[in-house]
Amino acid sequence: MNKPKSRESKPVTHKTKKPAKQTRPGWDIYFINIAKAVSTRATCLRRRYGAVITKDNVIVSTGYNGAPSGMIDCLEAGKCTRKELQIPHGERYELCHSVHAEANAIIRASADELKGSTIYISGCDGEGEECVSEPCMMCKRMILNAGIFKVVYSDGNGCYHIINPSDWLRNRV
Ligand SMILES: [Zn+2]
Ligand SMILES: [Zn+2]
Repeated sequence: MNKPKSRESKPVTHKTKKPAKQTRPGWDIYFINIAKAVSTRATCLRRRYGAVITKDNVIVSTGYNGAPSGMIDCLEAGKCTRKELQIPHGERYELCHSVHAEANAIIRASADELKGSTIYISGCDGEGEECVSEPCMMCKRMILNAGIFKVVYSDGNGCYHIINPSDWLRNRV
């Protein structure tokens, strides 16, 4: 299993394709692919993200982005305001009604489960193309306070990054 290096400033890139000789996927590939499957449940037209939280390689929680329970989501409304206005990635989240995948996964896990856990995030755009799934600044703050120890997210190119959330502290996310 790949361990994040706490003193590393840049995320490390790993290939999601398994080596030719390996007969079964490693844990990180296994769970990032499950996160990808979870993302298909998302209700936003612009981006669909899935998150999986694991502890000791056991899934404790999953989440995908969507409107809060009982609120009309982008799919039902037939439009996404951030998509319509072509808001750049990471900006104007107040225009979006979604609770993010990471947040939904975190609120469904207990504090004990979250401490020292790993979160896997994968997503795709409206056309189904895999996209960079680095958490937004609000989710980064939540991940830090949840005590999550390792973050694995797809890089949008069939690879994934592994990062220790403490690396975010330097730039004050
Ligand atoms: Zn939307
Ligand atoms: Zn977020």
